Formats: sequence, structure tokens, C-alpha cells
Amino acid sequence: RAKQGGKNRYEIFDLDSDTDQRERLRQIAEVSEGLKAGQLQLYYQPKVNLRNGEVRGVEALVRWQHPERGLLGPGVFLPVIEHHVTEIELGRWVLREACQQLSLWQSQGLVMPIAVNIAADHLQHPRFVADLETLIKECGDLAVGMLSLEVVETSALEDIERVSEVMEACHRLGIRFDLDDFGTGYSSLTYLKKLPVERLKIDQSFVRDMLDDPEDLAILEGILGLARAFGRGVIAEGVETEEEGRMLLRLGCEDGQGYAIARPMPAADLPQWVNDWTPPVSWRATPTAGAA
Ligand code: C2E
Ligand code: MG
Ligand code: MG
Ligand code: MG
Repeated sequence: RAKQGGKNRYEIFDLDSDTDQRERLRQIAEVSEGLKAGQLQLYYQPKVNLRNGEVRGVEALVRWQHPERGLLGPGVFLPVIEHHVTEIELGRWVLREACQQLSLWQSQGLVMPIAVNIAADHLQHPRFVADLETLIKECGDLAVGMLSLEVVETSALEDIERVSEVMEACHRLGIRFDLDDFGTGYSSLTYLKKLPVERLKIDQSFVRDMLDDPEDLAILEGILGLARAFGRGVIAEGVETEEEGRMLLRLGCEDGQGYAIARPMPAADLPQWVNDWTPPVSWRATPTAGAA
């Protein structure tokens, strides 16, 4: 018995009946058709140094321009295709699109590294590295450091040895990794110790609550300490207010991403944004408390 969810037709079903199974397959087919019909789009959200305003690059975030339902965010359709081959197809499309955007910006003289989110199943696909190598060549040998990948720490990365090998192979292609939503998984510390990732991306839930909740603040400070101890970089996501930016700078977190800086935008809007953007004056002036 499929749930009649009203507005959100793409919800997760219990898969406890044939009807649910059929409904899920129908939804997957719809995403797949949308992909083939060219209805998917990448938006780009800047990552910056909060103190001096330097733009570090952008994160690619997928959207679905649905013919009837308007612009849909990934939270609506990615869960539907999880563990299905369509997830791999979508992931390949995203990588290709991002690499083509990189070449385009490069040809326009815009140096703008792109970070792409990669699903765990896609990363562990047997052809992942070979496909990526081909893609990089096809795009005219993208400069090292222009493409990075974001991976969410999740139990789906179950084979940590294999994931490490994939990451090492990507490093040889000049591609680095960020561990996304850091601190939300059950085994963040294991991943930190075992995976060759360059940077931790502090989950937005800690940033959102750090000003009111001493425990979230403590977790955030703990992550910053861990990053230092392990020699990894760190960036905060979900920086929504000027005050949050100030707090992060005081804690020694220099890099951030969030609505206080910019919302995700179409590629065409980015050059103008880069031109116009300056960080709030208060960020430049914020000292780091007790910096080591
Ligand atoms: P994520 O990678 O952790 O991306 C951050 C999400 O937070 C994005 O949501 C972004 O639009 C949103 N965000 C950014 N700044 C702020 C802020 O200041 N406040 C708040 N409240 N939110 C902010 P989005 O675009 O809906 O993406 C959701 C998730 O979907 C992403 O989380 C990522 O895990 C996944 N995703 C997005 N695009 C792709 C993709 O191309 N491939 C894969 N595999 N996953 C993707
Ligand atoms: Mg991400
Ligand atoms: Mg995240
Ligand atoms: Mg997330």
C-alpha cells in the first residue's frame, strides 16, 4: 500500500508490498527519463576564506528542472535512486557536466575549482577511477587541484580498504577528497584515521546550533582540534549569518560556505558574483582566540 504523500511524490516507501515496489520503480524511471531528457542542472555554491574573502572554489549541487513540479532539490529525488543503477548514471552525468564547466571557465580565464558530491556506491563502482581518468583526458587534461570530490561518511563506505585504494588512485590523477557532513556518522573517527581525505567538512547542524548550544560548540571545537592533530584542512558548511562567520573565525575555522556568503546559483551567475562579493567587514577584523 503506497503512501499517498500529497505534495511529495518521491518519498521513501516501506517496500513491504508489490505496490510499493512498483511505485518506487516508476519513480526511478521518472528520474532516469528526466536525466535523459536533459532536465537536470548543476548549481554552484562558493566556498570562501571567511577572513580575506578569497574564493576557494565552488561545490556542484544537482537540481531537477521538473516540467510540472518546478525546480526540485536533490533531497527529493536522490534518495529514490539510492543503490540503483540510475544513481551511477546520474553521478556520471554530474561529473561530466562539472568537468565541462571547468574547461569552459578555464577557457574564459576563470580559475574556479569545482567539488563534486559522490555517492558511496558510485565511488566503489569498479569502473570509477578508469571512467574518471578518461573524462579528465576528454576535458583537455584539467589542471591538478581543479576537481575535488566530496564523500559523506556513511556505513555505505563499508569496505574502507577498498575506498582508501580508490582515493589513492584519484590522488594520482590530482583529485582530492573532502569528508562531507563530518561529525554526523557513527564512526567519524575511524574514517578520519583510515581514509586519505584532505579536508573535513563540518556538518551544518553543528554550525547552526553552536551559538545556542554549548554541546554543539564543544563538538565543533573538537572537530577543529582533530583536524589540526591529523593535519587535515577544515571547512564549515551552512554559514547562514554574519555572527556565525565571526564565531567560526574566532575558533580558528577560516573556510566556510553558506547562505551568508552565497546561495547555490546557476553557472552563468558565478562570474558576476565573484566580481561583486566582499566579506563582511567584521570578519576581516575578527581575531582568532588563543590561536596555537
Ligand atoms: P551537502 O553536500 O552537504 O550540501 C550542502 C547542502 O546544504 C546543499 O543542499 C546546500 O544547498 C545547502 N546549504 C548550503 N548553504 C546552506 C546554508 O547556509 N543553510 C542551509 N540551511 N543550507 C545550506 P542541497 O543542494 O539540497 O543538497 C543536499 C545534499 O544532496 C547534499 O548535501 C549532497 O549530499 C547531496 N547532493 C547534492 N548534489 C549532489 C550530486 O550531484 N551528487 C550526489 N551524489 N549527491 C548530491
Ligand atoms: Mg557536499
Ligand atoms: Mg554537507
Ligand atoms: Mg548533507
